[in-house]
Amino acid sequence: MEKTADIIIIGGGIIGASIAFHLTGKETKGIILLEKGMLGEGSTAKCVGGIRTQFSTEVNIRFSLESLKTWDRFSEITGVDLGFKKVGYLFLATTENEWRIFQANTHLLRTFSIPVELLSPEEIQHRWRYLKVDDLRGGTFCPWDGYAGPYEALTGFIKGARQGGVKIYEGTEVQQILQERGRIVGVRTSRGTIAAPIVINAAGPQAAEVGKMAGVEVPVKPYRRQIFFTAPFPWIPDSIPLVIDFHRGWYFRREGQGLLLSGPKDDFPSFNTNVDYDAMVEVAENSVARVPVLEKAEINRGWAGSYEISPDNHAILGEAPGVKGLFLSNGFSGHGFQHSPAVGRVMADLILGDQPFMDVSCLSVDRFRQGRLHQEPLTAFKE
Ligand SMILES: Cc1cc2nc3c(=O)[nH]c(=O)nc-3n(C[C@H](O)[C@H](O)[C@H](O)COP(=O)(O)OP(=O)(O)OC[C@H]3O[C@@H](n4cnc5c(N)ncnc54)[C@H](O)[C@@H]3O)c2cc1C
Repeated sequence: MEKTADIIIIGGGIIGASIAFHLTGKETKGIILLEKGMLGEGSTAKCVGGIRTQFSTEVNIRFSLESLKTWDRFSEITGVDLGFKKVGYLFLATTENEWRIFQANTHLLRTFSIPVELLSPEEIQHRWRYLKVDDLRGGTFCPWDGYAGPYEALTGFIKGARQGGVKIYEGTEVQQILQERGRIVGVRTSRGTIAAPIVINAAGPQAAEVGKMAGVEVPVKPYRRQIFFTAPFPWIPDSIPLVIDFHRGWYFRREGQGLLLSGPKDDFPSFNTNVDYDAMVEVAENSVARVPVLEKAEINRGWAGSYEISPDNHAILGEAPGVKGLFLSNGFSGHGFQHSPAVGRVMADLILGDQPFMDVSCLSVDRFRQGRLHQEPLTAFKE
């Protein structure tokens, strides 16, 4: 392994891979990506690939729109087919308050020319007959939304990064971040020390641990989210949108011939990623309440992964205050996959001292100390 580098990326998930890829696009040299296990084995492996424009803060909407440009041309850009299925996201509102949020959000999305539709329960029933709508106030649908393959996305970014000269080492854990007089000078790993002036924390749910290695507090906590899959399910159409029952925090979509049903998200932090099969009772209740024919569904497997949650459910991006050369790219709070193209691009610019395509100073880690938190009503729901 090299003894020196210009830039070291800690973490080989979708974020580290996208940063590596976008740095090579700017013709940088001497980039090393270090992954303690195997590429993509963290949250990226557990991700269900949701891509949506329906966010309710400007910064997230801008990230979505910028990322869509890459997702739409992914195979042209990287040579890897992303399998992007633009089936749309249908958000359902049950309470008056949710409906008010949906209406305000539709207004905001339309200012970005996003073709989001505001639908009455009758319109929803007409278009998606298998849904139970009698308790609904309405919903929003955007045909630009859908889902794609996180593994394919990771493969595309890694392939491009390797072709651009990035050195990638799996099975290499960063154990210490080295600094002198407030400047990064390298990392000590399980396989030796590498000197470098720039280090990027792209460690997903382990962001806080990696931050601590440099004495920087990164307020990101891991929360388990469970997902379940059914056997082939022919009782509803093959092509359905990703449907989100906002009130229940439940969603479902097609997965092959079967269905993917969302399970619970823990409300306490932990690194637990075991599947709790008792959670299937809650999943079954949520499923049948919104799609009665799902009583015929047979759940046959599931998995669990960690969301990397920040205190305001928004990303933490930029250079760490007081540690020159340490860059944070953390806290994506359940939507790091879909925003990875925009994040990679922004980070590459910030690292090289270029002007990013959008101002992300509002995502600096300083905001928590300064009390400038973001408010996004729609983050009550996560993919
Ligand atoms: C069940 C589930 C469903 C999800 N669905 C969606 C979705 O539909 N859409 C969406 O946009 N997002 C979704 N997400 C969120 C998404 O998966 C994450 O936001 C994204 O994968 C974060 O990527 P990352 O690269 O930051 O983290 P990770 O993929 O966790 O990568 C971080 C990597 O860093 C490595 N690492 C950590 N510490 C060290 C160290 N000291 N040295 C070396 N390497 C280290 C880890 O091994 C890991 O591989 C979902 C998440 C879960 C759990």
